[in-house]
Amino acid sequence: MTKEFIRSIKGTQDILPDQSQRWQALETTIRNTMDTYGYGEIRTPAFERTELFASVGEGTDIVSKEMYSWTDQGGENLTLKPELTAPVVRSFIQNNLGGQSPMNKLYYIDALFRRERPQKGRYRQFHQFGIEAFGSEHPEMDAEVIALALAVFNDIGLEGLTLKLNSIGSSECRSNYRNTLRDFLKPHINDLSETSQNRFENNPLRILDTKAPHEIEILKNAPNISDSWTAEDKAHFEEVCFLLDTLGIQYSLASNLVRGLDYYTRTTFEITSTALGAQDAICGGGRYDGLVETLGGKPTPGIGFAAGMERILLALGDDDSSGNPTQVYIVGLGDGARPSVAKLAEDLRQNNIRTDFDPLRRSIKAQMREANKSGATIAVIIGDKELESGQAEIKDLKTGDQEPVKIKALVDHINSLTL
Ligand code: ATP
Ligand code: MG
Repeated sequence: MTKEFIRSIKGTQDILPDQSQRWQALETTIRNTMDTYGYGEIRTPAFERTELFASVGEGTDIVSKEMYSWTDQGGENLTLKPELTAPVVRSFIQNNLGGQSPMNKLYYIDALFRRERPQKGRYRQFHQFGIEAFGSEHPEMDAEVIALALAVFNDIGLEGLTLKLNSIGSSECRSNYRNTLRDFLKPHINDLSETSQNRFENNPLRILDTKAPHEIEILKNAPNISDSWTAEDKAHFEEVCFLLDTLGIQYSLASNLVRGLDYYTRTTFEITSTALGAQDAICGGGRYDGLVETLGGKPTPGIGFAAGMERILLALGDDDSSGNPTQVYIVGLGDGARPSVAKLAEDLRQNNIRTDFDPLRRSIKAQMREANKSGATIAVIIGDKELESGQAEIKDLKTGDQEPVKIKALVDHINSLTL
């Protein structure tokens, strides 16, 4: 009787050793860059109360249809985290980080869960790195956050990026703009999709997010949110732009880059890659000066971004750097040699030398083939003959040269070689 094989869930991926090297390289770049910019890592639980996500994302796609939620045995409504901002803000408030320091700069690298339609660049479990900086409302903070995102992408070697920048102003600006936008859309209301008609009432800004070509056409003549900026909003945005110019960072202004939720304020940005197809957004971010208060904390300005790691790796394309190869391969001949092989492997590994041997007890020919395939610089050959003479053979796998070395002196000898 054959057992039916249980496959993984659609939209999830196994990351195997030949790919995990690329993940590790990306993670190392992220951690080094975060360290340089003065950000400390925060790790939050994999699941939270459903309410936490619902209260900050009401009406968004994530909350309305993408969350993995369930009721546990104790009757609590829980959700696997679909985004990190709400958990980080929750933790910021709960641990009174704002009370301990006026400025808190946090970063994360984490797995997220969203029940979306799986496709290239869109998965149901995926990974993001991101930051949340709490405490400053000033433009130099905005410029730092954008520079930091780009620094990670540059260090990892991503090219062909576009930074899109906008300001959605203060809440005063947005309530004026909502009315302006409604006035503009009113004559077109019957041409709008049902979704957009609903948004017209609740949240007209979100209509600007539409992907429908005929709506995009209508919106071409829509008034710009910048027309509704207050004098302070304008000054803030101009200073962000001036600072980015000063840092030598290029951007394009994107007046349709808006966010529909009330706690978002002023700067919004997105970074896209020309190396990707339809799912070309690598990073989204912006200011949310009203969010900490929305979640029950003291009013605290904040800004952050989140970047999709699968998409970054997709945009980087395949390279065949397969990490650090084995340095020493031990070839064992016969039953008597086995303990010596195991002991030598352990001793070399204790000396941080990447060492391997054949646990399949194959022929010498097969072991030598494995030694060459492993990328090792040298093979050490230990057999009955070698045990008797107290000497092993060291073979240089590039030149084929072979020399005898006392078994007792092997570790010191190999340590002295450049492998
Ligand atoms: P999109 O418009 O592509 O759906 P989003 O607005 O849902 O993106 P955010 O919630 O801002 O994206 O997440 C930030 C980044 O995370 C995105 O720019 C993208 O790189 C990545 N991302 C979002 N959803 C997924 C997913 N399902 N699979 C892989 N990466 C994702
Ligand atoms: Mg999405």
